Amino acid sequence: MEKPKALATRMLFDEARAILDRHLDVEYSNGPERITRQELLHRVAHKAALICLPTEKVDDELLAAAPKLLIAATVSVGYDNIDLPACSRHRVVATNTPGVLDETTADFAWTLMMAVSRRLIEGENWVRSGTWPGMDIAQLLGTDVYGKTLGIIGFGRIGRCVARRALGFQMRVLYHNRNRVAPELEKEARAEFVDLDTLLRESDFISLHVPLGPETRHLMGADNLAKMKRTAFLVNTARGPVVDEAALVAALEQKKLAGAGLDVYEREPIVHPGLLGRKDVVLAPHLGSATLETRTKMAVVAAKNVAAVFEGRRPPNPLNADALGL
Ligand code: NAP
Repeated sequence: MEKPKALATRMLFDEARAILDRHLDVEYSNGPERITRQELLHRVAHKAALICLPTEKVDDELLAAAPKLLIAATVSVGYDNIDLPACSRHRVVATNTPGVLDETTADFAWTLMMAVSRRLIEGENWVRSGTWPGMDIAQLLGTDVYGKTLGIIGFGRIGRCVARRALGFQMRVLYHNRNRVAPELEKEARAEFVDLDTLLRESDFISLHVPLGPETRHLMGADNLAKMKRTAFLVNTARGPVVDEAALVAALEQKKLAGAGLDVYEREPIVHPGLLGRKDVVLAPHLGSATLETRTKMAVVAAKNVAAVFEGRRPPNPLNADALGL
């Protein structure tokens, strides 16, 4: 019997391909260039499953171009690339990959926090340039992380992993969410629930871990950036549009904060030109979950979600269960 057809916008990994290939005839996009929107719309046309990344939008246009589609599986926990009501209208179930990337992304938020406060990239560039004269007493002085106050906006799976790491640095941890979490979760990270203003005013490091949505778009705009301590650092491993990049450039220019570590940008892969020349920012190319172990796990979770649909089971991570008619 002919297997249903699927499109994966990346090669994925052997472990994930083994799961998908059991059920589906999968077309893997393996060119050196990323798939264009036009190509995506064309290639998804007769497919029953789509495995994609947050760089691909699953919207009405795509769903209309793929009338046979049953599932759109994004290899990410964030799903702001997916129009869920549109998926439900087209009876397409959308899935994501929560839980397998929490520790890895938390490690990376810390990587940015340490790199920007200890001026690692500035120093590295100096060493590589061949002009570094050797250490000196007041050279590239950074800021201590140890013992400071860490503010976490979005105390979910990843935010809590970031908080737990702060215990080893003997930091005070503040967090802000719409809802206060269970006492045992606060206790685990010795974290204190505060309103957003308190967090902004009292934190030495602010790390963003909210999903992108209408409420969180430009959450860190001019007003909230101005509430930060002038000595504080902002770290964003959530989604680019959570920060108003133009406002961030202006705030850095006016020394309203000390620096920023960014993994994500408002219009990826375009980065605000005002950030590119600055020494007080560390700019990473969306590496939050980018380890071989974690990206493999994410691809496997996406593959398992797809496999479940073709085995007539409920996928483990549905984002719009209503589309399943369950
Ligand atoms: P999660 O478990 O759903 O946690 C999100 C937290 O944000 C929740 O605690 C939620 O609590 C809070 N929140 C939601 N809206 C809020 C608002 N308006 N104001 C304040 N808090 C709000 O998600 P996660 O798995 O930790 O992932 C978080 C995000 O990280 C993802 O959505 C994704 O975009 C991003 N991410 C990026 C990378 C990367 O490569 N850079 C990797 C992984 C994830 P309440 O509902 O109580 O407010």
